[in-house]
Amino acid sequence: MIKEHDEARQGESFSPAAILDSLSPRKFYIESYGCAMNFADSEVVASILQGSGFTATRDFTEADLVLINTCSIREKAEQTIRSRLHIFRQVKRSNPSMLIAVLGCMAERLKSKFLEEEKLVDLVVGPDAYRTLPILIEEAESGQKSVNVLLSRDETYADIAPVRLNSNGVNAFVSIMRGCNNMCSFCVVPFTRGRERSRNPGSILSETRNLFENGYREVTLLGQNVDSYHWFSGVDGDHAVGFAELLESVARISPLLRVRFSTSHPKDITDDVIHTIAHYENICNYIHLPVQSGSTRVLQRMNRTYTREWYLSKIKRIRELIPDCGISSDIISGFCSETEEDHQETLSLMRECSFDMSYMYFYSERPGTLAAKRYPDDVPESEKKRRLDEIVKLQNKISRQSNLNDLGSVSRVLIEGDSKKSPSFWMGRNNQNKVVVFPKKGQNFRKGDYASVKIEQCTGATLIGQSI
Ligand code: SAM
Ligand code: SF4
Repeated sequence: MIKEHDEARQGESFSPAAILDSLSPRKFYIESYGCAMNFADSEVVASILQGSGFTATRDFTEADLVLINTCSIREKAEQTIRSRLHIFRQVKRSNPSMLIAVLGCMAERLKSKFLEEEKLVDLVVGPDAYRTLPILIEEAESGQKSVNVLLSRDETYADIAPVRLNSNGVNAFVSIMRGCNNMCSFCVVPFTRGRERSRNPGSILSETRNLFENGYREVTLLGQNVDSYHWFSGVDGDHAVGFAELLESVARISPLLRVRFSTSHPKDITDDVIHTIAHYENICNYIHLPVQSGSTRVLQRMNRTYTREWYLSKIKRIRELIPDCGISSDIISGFCSETEEDHQETLSLMRECSFDMSYMYFYSERPGTLAAKRYPDDVPESEKKRRLDEIVKLQNKISRQSNLNDLGSVSRVLIEGDSKKSPSFWMGRNNQNKVVVFPKKGQNFRKGDYASVKIEQCTGATLIGQSI
């Protein structure tokens, strides 16, 4: 599932076969946390390190360089990272030459405080400074503590070919833009990842073509707000490229290549984009459209710049143009001043929209954000959690119903690999991004093939069927 924040992948380390070169004397170990953008960035970092003669290891105790690509979105994410750093510190005690690097949003947020407070860290590198890693490593090797947290207005790492990490060889992320210009009042991202900038479409297309030629069958175009993708070469006579045009160009690479994207902002998704999805078979009928709250009053405080009615009209429009579109959302419970009435509005909006799936969180105040400056974090934690619990229970019910509605239908499934529960079953996803498992027996499928699967049973999270 293309998750903003995939719990199963948090803390994932990797060891891509392509760079397991035992001749290289220096080894690095990388762990990634947070959203898909961070996982994509770790692939850029791996490419830069590979260029500097490093080789990957899965075992941090034997690494010369340990990197942790961090997330600041909620306090809990930062706590998890701090406890990992304490474990790395123990290893560093017995191997003092080992370097520890903090990358990503937490590096950007805390900057040199990391060196002062968390004495175990040698390098602090923000999301726009990865090209300087080789120099920073050299400095750190000579005993200096190194920090580069400069944000950029134009860095997109467009020319760096990411080294695919933990790859199943079928799905890949392709970053199309960086940063965010929205100022949702609860969110730290504009401060940690800087201003929005779009990547040159030529480089996006050549990276995607290359993936397809190497057997990949699905790409997810990534950005905090893909609908505001905008690229202009600056050359007279050239036209500006928007997201709908980019999506179309990627879809035209091959009908066998599935295209997904994440994330859309309700205020920016256009009819052009929805028409493009509807027109191309290989653009998945799936939109992740975070609502955050069902109450217009709360949405205004969140600075989301749309109302409940605007959001509902977008959902209506999507369903008009793509009747079988899968839709998922992000929801926050207990934002500043949220009342029981506001919470009930969130529940009623969820029922009205029938989201197939949602990522649900309770509000976590982030230092420096507009909300932290302007509004008291006045919903007690026990109340935030109670509301979240109701939201999760309702979503589980709606997801189950959505899966029950699919019984008897036939899904086109892109096979990603063995089912986690049993190697005698394939696991893949359908056009709507739902997980489908089916028995292998009697079939000659391979990973990356498409199968037609008749859905016969379901759980809340999985469809189960037979290939036909
Ligand atoms: N750019 C995307 C968007 O606007 O929909 C999502 C970015 S953010 C990485 C993913 C989700 O984390 C948000 O949609 C929001 O639901 C959640 N989130 C962000 N800040 C939060 C906070 N302070 N407390 C709780 N959840 C938060
Ligand atoms: Fe954060 Fe809002 Fe930007 Fe998403 S759109 S990254 S929630 S500021």
